[in-house]
Amino acid sequence: MTAHIIDGKSIAQQVRTEWKIRADALKARGITPGLAVIIVGEDPASRVYVANKVKACAELGLHSEHIVMPADTPEAALLGKIAELNRDPKIHGILVQLPVPKHIASNRVLEAISPDKDVDGFHPENVGALVTGNMRFAPCTPFGAMKLLEKSGVAIEGKHAVVVGRSNIVGKPMALMLLQQNATVTICTSKTVDLAKFTRDADILVVATGRPKMITGDMIKPGAAVIDVGINRLPDGKLCGDVDFDSAKQVAGWITPVPGGVGPMTITMLVANTVQAAERSAK
Ligand code: NDP
Repeated sequence: MTAHIIDGKSIAQQVRTEWKIRADALKARGITPGLAVIIVGEDPASRVYVANKVKACAELGLHSEHIVMPADTPEAALLGKIAELNRDPKIHGILVQLPVPKHIASNRVLEAISPDKDVDGFHPENVGALVTGNMRFAPCTPFGAMKLLEKSGVAIEGKHAVVVGRSNIVGKPMALMLLQQNATVTICTSKTVDLAKFTRDADILVVATGRPKMITGDMIKPGAAVIDVGINRLPDGKLCGDVDFDSAKQVAGWITPVPGGVGPMTITMLVANTVQAAERSAK
């Protein structure tokens, strides 16, 4: 068997077109959805991510503000900026690019963002909403992974979904979203004994570990849907996922490539959350 390759780029484009229609409808009522992205410091990878987020907003005709603060910005100044954006009616979504410099407590930053503008879905109130099945803002990467499953026609209800990784930004929210869609969910971590026993039983396997190519074809159930969230840079400069694509695609029913799978969906869902925030504020 050779897996169906899930084309994240093309699905991202399709989803963006759907959200552009909703953004245009708001603009016709005089409301332009606005996103503010704050970056503190000079991390080059973060700068690229932020530039891509701002570009995606422009593509959909959204208003965006890119706020760069020096690496030695005091925490109070960052919190002050967030408070200002919380009050700004042009801004519907606020995102602080993580990681922030070590002298700033990221939990205080995330808690300072108004839950109504928390388009990353990291505020404890929005995390609680996800846990209790009343999702408001879904964290963008797992939200994008769920969209890939939906658009690829992968059935979720009643299936065994195994999520490898339990981070707050990917693994845990992914598991909760799958549970919400009535999958039977197992979460595996670095402490799991006999990982392959679990992954081989997965109808849907989501891998978010940051360990290059750690899931190989022999660890996958034939016909499974494999979502590879990992983005790793190899010594030769090439990108790879947490799944060994070449062996996995011989066994899986569906698989996301890296790059070109989950990656393009993350920013797309950020834009979607921003439009959604503007829709809610317009009500
Ligand atoms: P974290 O480092 O925060 O979490 C990694 C998780 O993987 C931990 O829960 C860890 O377990 C688990 N893990 C590590 N090694 C193993 C192992 N051998 N077996 C089982 N579980 C293991 O990573 P993130 O969740 O932030 O990111 C994961 C990957 O996804 C990275 O490659 C990252 O670059 C990528 N990513 C991609 C995004 C995108 O837009 N496509 C966005 C965000 C992340 P434990 O808790 O026990 O330590």
